[in-house]
Amino acid sequence: MIMKHRQLGASGLMLSEITYGNWLTHGESVERAAATACVRAALDAGITTFDTADVYAMGAAETVLGEALRGVRRESVEILTKVCNPTGPGPNDRGLSRKHVMESCHASLRRLGTDYVDLYQAHRFDDRTPLDETLIAFDDLVRQGKVRYLGVSEWTAKQIRAALDIGAELGLRSRLVSNQPQYNMLWRVIEPEVVPLSLAEGLGQIAFQPLAQGVLTGKYQPGQAPPPGSRAAGDGRAPRFIARVLGDELLTRVQGLRPIAADAGLSMAQLAIAWTLHRPGVSTALIGASRPDQVTENAAAAGVSLGDDVLRRVDETLGD
Ligand code: NDP
Repeated sequence: MIMKHRQLGASGLMLSEITYGNWLTHGESVERAAATACVRAALDAGITTFDTADVYAMGAAETVLGEALRGVRRESVEILTKVCNPTGPGPNDRGLSRKHVMESCHASLRRLGTDYVDLYQAHRFDDRTPLDETLIAFDDLVRQGKVRYLGVSEWTAKQIRAALDIGAELGLRSRLVSNQPQYNMLWRVIEPEVVPLSLAEGLGQIAFQPLAQGVLTGKYQPGQAPPPGSRAAGDGRAPRFIARVLGDELLTRVQGLRPIAADAGLSMAQLAIAWTLHRPGVSTALIGASRPDQVTENAAAAGVSLGDDVLRRVDETLGD
């Protein structure tokens, strides 16, 4: 299957249907050579969009990604990064103040080894900083050529609405074009409010964790220890993040997806990613992977068409 691209919301920016992100992996649980091999596998599969953040592995994830992309024509990839979560002990090492946004963006560009990022995202909402201060700083980064487009991550509909209104009042030229929420078969909280607002206002969803951190691949079996080498079996901080989705009742329901995937001729990972790509408003499915073969398998979910019967069986199996 040839990788398809989609428009990011109503913007002109095209992203590959699958984006490869490097939280918990690059600079952390995955060795440098394997990280580079994953990026190469992504490029080979037609993935052109890469997501990272200033806070991932305290900057090391950006460094590893930048080095893995060295030699790749800059115009042929889209690099996405984020700011807000704490990157140091100081009071200004976090949040969306003008000071931190400017400093963090410059640090990200240095680590990534690039003059600009394609999408700069507010990783979380910062209720300490006036929204106009953040939006003006973001707009200035676009004017300075350091950032091409602006987005947010895990913002509520009310927060997105406020940002759009304040941006319009201020007459800013750069509008938000995206939101990056957790979105998968098991976590659909954006559907009632965030998606309708985003569709009306032209924001695309960059849906992260389409595999629920690996749970939707079906590799975690109820009542059994996690497979060696998996995120849940690691000895770093990763097992803490995945623990929430490892209950036996949930894992049993997930196993119910196995025959649906088999009937569709897909792996469970591919079914989960294709499901996400079928949801309204989704511009790209933002996956992680710790090995190149996972990247290749997951990338093959791009362009897959799921019939209504498949989508219905998924809903019936997982329930509410
Ligand atoms: P995923 O749901 O894509 O899980 C990825 C993990 O699942 C991999 O690291 C791997 O872990 C396992 N896996 C992937 N593919 C397969 C496969 N085919 N077979 C078996 N196991 C597989 O999400 P992540 O948690 O990795 O997040 C993806 C990206 O989303 C991040 O890199 C980041 O860019 C973004 N993100 C954004 C957040 C935000 O707040 N904006 C928060 C979290 C993530 P293993 O092999 O170790 O078991």
